[in-house]
Amino acid sequence: MISIKQIPVLSDNYIWLINASEEFTAVVDPAIPDPVIDELKKNNWKLTHIFNTHHHNDHTGANLELKNITNCKIIGPKSDFQRIPGIDICYKDKDEFSFGNETVRIMDIPGHTKGHIAFYFNKSQALFCGDTLFALGCGRVFEGTMEQMWDSLVKIKNLPKETKVYCAHEYTLANGNFALTIEPENQKLKIRMNEVILKREKGISTVPSILLDEIETNPFLRPDSIEIQKKLSLVGSSDLEVFTKIRLLKDSFRG
Ligand code: ZN
Ligand code: FE
Repeated sequence: MISIKQIPVLSDNYIWLINASEEFTAVVDPAIPDPVIDELKKNNWKLTHIFNTHHHNDHTGANLELKNITNCKIIGPKSDFQRIPGIDICYKDKDEFSFGNETVRIMDIPGHTKGHIAFYFNKSQALFCGDTLFALGCGRVFEGTMEQMWDSLVKIKNLPKETKVYCAHEYTLANGNFALTIEPENQKLKIRMNEVILKREKGISTVPSILLDEIETNPFLRPDSIEIQKKLSLVGSSDLEVFTKIRLLKDSFRG
Protein backbone atom coordinates (compact mmCIF):
# COMPACT_ATOMS: atom_id res chain seq x y z
CA MET A 1 0.00 0.00 0.00
CA ILE A 2 1.12 3.52 -0.73
CA SER A 3 -0.23 6.69 0.75
CA ILE A 4 -0.40 9.77 -1.42
CA LYS A 5 -0.57 13.42 -0.36
CA GLN A 6 -1.48 16.30 -2.62
CA ILE A 7 0.47 19.55 -2.28
CA PRO A 8 -1.09 22.45 -4.23
CA VAL A 9 1.54 25.06 -5.14
CA LEU A 10 1.95 28.14 -7.36
CA SER A 11 -1.28 29.09 -9.13
CA ASP A 12 -2.44 25.64 -10.23
CA ASN A 13 0.34 23.03 -9.83
CA TYR A 14 -0.02 19.81 -7.87
CA ILE A 15 3.02 18.20 -6.28
CA TRP A 16 2.40 14.60 -5.19
CA LEU A 17 4.08 12.96 -2.21
CA ILE A 18 4.09 9.15 -2.20
CA ASN A 19 5.04 7.04 0.83
CA ALA A 20 5.43 3.28 0.50
CA SER A 21 7.48 2.42 3.59
CA GLU A 22 10.06 3.93 5.90
CA GLU A 23 12.69 3.58 3.16
CA PHE A 24 10.58 4.81 0.25
CA THR A 25 9.09 8.29 -0.02
CA ALA A 26 9.00 10.05 -3.38
CA VAL A 27 7.92 13.48 -4.47
CA VAL A 28 6.58 13.87 -7.99
CA ASP A 29 7.47 17.04 -9.91
CA PRO A 30 8.47 19.37 -7.07
CA ALA A 31 8.12 22.92 -8.34
CA ILE A 32 9.20 24.56 -5.07
CA PRO A 33 10.79 23.06 -1.94
CA ASP A 34 9.18 24.56 1.18
CA PRO A 35 5.68 23.03 1.00
CA VAL A 36 7.29 19.63 0.31
CA ILE A 37 9.55 19.93 3.35
CA ASP A 38 6.58 20.96 5.49
CA GLU A 39 4.48 17.99 4.33
CA LEU A 40 7.37 15.56 4.92
CA LYS A 41 7.74 16.85 8.49
CA LYS A 42 4.02 16.68 9.13
CA ASN A 43 3.95 12.99 8.17
CA ASN A 44 7.34 12.17 9.61
CA TRP A 45 8.49 10.85 6.23
CA LYS A 46 12.07 10.87 4.94
CA LEU A 47 12.39 11.86 1.28
CA THR A 48 14.27 9.20 -0.71
CA HIS A 49 13.35 9.96 -4.33
CA ILE A 50 12.28 12.68 -6.71
CA PHE A 51 10.26 11.51 -9.71
CA ASN A 52 10.35 13.99 -12.62
CA THR A 53 7.93 13.57 -15.51
CA HIS A 54 9.60 16.26 -17.68
CA HIS A 55 12.05 19.12 -17.58
CA HIS A 56 9.79 22.17 -17.18
CA ASN A 57 10.75 24.36 -14.25
CA ASP A 58 7.34 24.07 -12.59
CA HIS A 59 8.12 20.33 -12.27
CA THR A 60 11.84 20.36 -11.45
CA GLY A 61 12.39 23.72 -9.74
CA ALA A 62 13.02 22.21 -6.29
CA ASN A 63 15.19 19.28 -7.46
CA LEU A 64 18.58 20.58 -6.37
CA GLU A 65 17.47 22.10 -3.08
CA LEU A 66 15.59 18.95 -2.01
CA LYS A 67 18.51 16.74 -3.07
CA ASN A 68 20.89 18.93 -1.07
CA ILE A 69 18.79 18.70 2.07
CA THR A 70 17.75 15.03 1.90
CA ASN A 71 20.35 13.32 -0.33
CA CYS A 72 17.49 11.76 -2.29
CA LYS A 73 17.87 10.16 -5.74
CA ILE A 74 16.38 11.90 -8.76
CA ILE A 75 14.64 9.76 -11.40
CA GLY A 76 13.68 11.14 -14.79
CA PRO A 77 13.30 10.46 -18.53
CA LYS A 78 16.35 8.98 -20.25
CA SER A 79 15.31 10.71 -23.47
CA ASP A 80 15.72 14.13 -21.85
CA PHE A 81 18.22 13.57 -19.04
CA GLN A 82 20.36 16.62 -19.92
CA ARG A 83 17.54 18.94 -18.95
CA ILE A 84 16.61 17.33 -15.60
CA PRO A 85 18.56 19.13 -12.84
CA GLY A 86 20.56 16.71 -10.65
CA ILE A 87 19.29 13.54 -12.32
CA ASP A 88 20.73 10.26 -10.94
CA ILE A 89 18.68 7.53 -12.61
CA CYS A 90 17.38 7.57 -16.20
CA TYR A 91 14.44 5.42 -17.25
CA LYS A 92 12.83 4.68 -20.59
CA ASP A 93 9.60 3.05 -21.74
CA LYS A 94 8.69 -0.23 -19.97
CA ASP A 95 11.50 0.02 -17.41
CA GLU A 96 10.36 -1.16 -13.99
CA PHE A 97 11.68 -0.62 -10.48
CA SER A 98 10.64 -1.58 -6.96
CA PHE A 99 9.29 1.01 -4.60
CA GLY A 100 8.46 -0.57 -1.26
CA ASN A 101 5.98 -3.33 -2.03
CA GLU A 102 5.06 -1.74 -5.33
CA THR A 103 6.39 -2.13 -8.83
CA VAL A 104 6.56 1.13 -10.73
CA ARG A 105 6.46 0.97 -14.52
CA ILE A 106 7.77 3.78 -16.70
CA MET A 107 5.85 4.87 -19.76
CA ASP A 108 7.41 7.12 -22.41
CA ILE A 109 4.70 9.65 -23.24
CA PRO A 110 6.33 12.41 -25.35
CA GLY A 111 4.50 15.28 -27.01
CA HIS A 112 4.26 18.06 -24.42
CA THR A 113 8.05 17.91 -24.30
CA LYS A 114 10.54 15.80 -26.25
CA GLY A 115 11.14 13.53 -23.26
CA HIS A 116 8.20 12.98 -20.93
CA ILE A 117 7.53 9.92 -18.77
CA ALA A 118 4.73 8.67 -16.58
CA PHE A 119 5.08 6.58 -13.42
CA TYR A 120 2.52 3.78 -13.14
CA PHE A 121 2.07 1.98 -9.81
CA ASN A 122 0.89 -1.49 -10.74
CA LYS A 123 -0.74 -2.60 -7.50
CA SER A 124 -2.35 0.70 -6.63
CA GLN A 125 -3.30 1.43 -10.25
CA ALA A 126 -2.09 4.99 -9.85
CA LEU A 127 -0.67 6.96 -12.78
CA PHE A 128 1.48 10.08 -12.38
CA CYS A 129 1.43 11.60 -15.84
CA GLY A 130 2.68 15.18 -15.45
CA ASP A 131 1.43 17.44 -18.23
CA THR A 132 0.27 14.77 -20.70
CA LEU A 133 -3.29 13.82 -19.70
CA PHE A 134 -5.20 16.32 -17.57
CA ALA A 135 -8.65 15.94 -16.06
CA LEU A 136 -10.90 16.77 -19.04
CA GLY A 137 -7.89 17.92 -21.07
CA CYS A 138 -4.39 17.24 -22.28
CA GLY A 139 -1.08 19.11 -22.27
CA ARG A 140 -0.07 21.51 -24.98
CA VAL A 141 2.12 20.04 -27.68
CA PHE A 142 5.24 22.19 -27.25
CA GLU A 143 8.21 20.12 -28.41
CA GLY A 144 6.84 16.89 -29.84
CA THR A 145 4.44 16.22 -32.69
CA MET A 146 0.67 15.78 -32.62
CA GLU A 147 1.25 12.15 -33.56
CA GLN A 148 3.53 11.59 -30.56
CA MET A 149 1.00 13.18 -28.22
CA TRP A 150 -1.84 11.08 -29.62
CA ASP A 151 0.24 7.89 -29.31
CA SER A 152 1.03 8.83 -25.71
CA LEU A 153 -2.66 9.34 -24.91
CA VAL A 154 -3.52 5.96 -26.48
CA LYS A 155 -0.96 4.29 -24.20
CA ILE A 156 -2.69 5.84 -21.20
CA LYS A 157 -6.13 5.00 -22.57
CA ASN A 158 -5.12 1.33 -22.67
CA LEU A 159 -4.39 1.15 -18.92
CA PRO A 160 -6.97 -0.46 -16.59
CA LYS A 161 -10.12 1.66 -16.52
CA GLU A 162 -9.98 1.99 -12.72
CA THR A 163 -6.60 3.72 -12.92
CA LYS A 164 -6.41 6.89 -10.85
CA VAL A 165 -4.91 9.72 -12.89
CA TYR A 166 -2.68 12.08 -10.90
CA CYS A 167 -1.94 14.96 -13.27
CA ALA A 168 0.15 18.00 -12.38
CA HIS A 169 -2.30 20.90 -12.74
CA GLU A 170 -5.78 21.95 -11.65
CA TYR A 171 -7.05 22.93 -15.10
CA THR A 172 -10.28 20.93 -14.97
CA LEU A 173 -12.83 23.75 -14.98
CA ALA A 174 -11.32 25.55 -17.98
CA ASN A 175 -10.79 22.21 -19.75
CA GLY A 176 -14.41 21.26 -19.15
CA ASN A 177 -15.71 24.57 -20.51
CA PHE A 178 -13.81 23.81 -23.71
CA ALA A 179 -14.95 20.17 -23.76
CA LEU A 180 -18.58 21.31 -23.67
CA THR A 181 -18.03 23.28 -26.89
CA ILE A 182 -16.65 20.15 -28.60
CA GLU A 183 -19.21 17.60 -27.39
CA PRO A 184 -22.20 19.51 -25.96
CA GLU A 185 -24.59 16.54 -26.01
CA ASN A 186 -22.35 14.22 -23.97
CA GLN A 187 -24.55 13.61 -20.91
CA LYS A 188 -21.73 12.19 -18.79
CA LEU A 189 -19.65 15.26 -19.57
CA LYS A 190 -22.48 17.56 -18.49
CA ILE A 191 -22.95 15.67 -15.22
CA ARG A 192 -19.21 15.64 -14.55
CA MET A 193 -18.93 19.37 -15.25
CA ASN A 194 -21.67 20.14 -12.75
CA GLU A 195 -19.67 18.26 -10.14
CA VAL A 196 -16.48 20.07 -11.15
CA ILE A 197 -18.17 23.48 -10.87
CA LEU A 198 -19.48 22.68 -7.38
CA LYS A 199 -16.09 21.39 -6.23
CA ARG A 200 -14.18 24.41 -7.55
CA GLU A 201 -16.67 26.81 -5.94
CA LYS A 202 -15.78 25.19 -2.64
CA GLY A 203 -12.06 25.17 -3.45
CA ILE A 204 -11.97 21.36 -3.59
CA SER A 205 -9.49 19.63 -5.91
CA THR A 206 -10.75 17.66 -8.92
CA VAL A 207 -7.55 15.57 -9.15
CA PRO A 208 -6.98 12.62 -9.17
CA SER A 209 -9.63 11.51 -11.63
CA ILE A 210 -10.56 8.02 -12.80
CA LEU A 211 -9.38 6.89 -16.24
CA LEU A 212 -12.84 5.56 -17.16
CA ASP A 213 -14.31 9.03 -16.57
CA GLU A 214 -11.63 10.54 -18.81
CA ILE A 215 -12.39 8.02 -21.55
CA GLU A 216 -16.09 8.88 -21.33
CA THR A 217 -15.83 12.67 -21.05
CA ASN A 218 -12.39 13.99 -22.05
CA PRO A 219 -12.57 15.07 -25.73
CA PHE A 220 -8.87 14.40 -26.27
CA LEU A 221 -9.49 10.69 -25.64
CA ARG A 222 -12.63 10.68 -27.79
CA PRO A 223 -11.73 11.39 -31.44
CA ASP A 224 -13.87 8.34 -32.28
CA SER A 225 -17.01 10.08 -30.96
CA ILE A 226 -19.51 10.57 -33.77
CA GLU A 227 -20.80 13.74 -32.15
CA ILE A 228 -17.29 15.23 -32.08
CA GLN A 229 -16.58 14.15 -35.65
CA LYS A 230 -19.84 15.75 -36.84
CA LYS A 231 -19.18 18.92 -34.85
CA LEU A 232 -15.74 19.29 -36.45
CA SER A 233 -16.88 18.21 -39.95
CA LEU A 234 -14.44 15.31 -39.75
CA VAL A 235 -16.76 12.30 -40.01
CA GLY A 236 -14.72 9.24 -40.92
CA SER A 237 -11.36 10.94 -40.35
CA SER A 238 -8.55 9.20 -38.48
CA ASP A 239 -8.23 9.51 -34.71
CA LEU A 240 -5.03 11.48 -35.23
CA GLU A 241 -6.71 14.00 -37.53
CA VAL A 242 -9.59 14.53 -35.12
CA PHE A 243 -7.28 14.74 -32.10
CA THR A 244 -5.10 17.30 -33.91
CA LYS A 245 -8.11 19.45 -34.70
CA ILE A 246 -9.31 19.35 -31.06
CA ARG A 247 -5.82 20.27 -29.81
CA LEU A 248 -5.55 23.22 -32.24
CA LEU A 249 -9.02 24.47 -31.26
CA LYS A 250 -8.08 24.29 -27.58
CA ASP A 251 -4.87 26.25 -28.24
CA SER A 252 -6.92 29.20 -29.48
CA PHE A 253 -9.89 28.75 -27.11
CA ARG A 254 -10.65 31.70 -24.86
CA GLY A 255 -13.27 30.48 -22.40
ZN1 ZN B 1 5.03 21.18 -18.50
FE1 FE C 1 3.40 22.03 -15.89
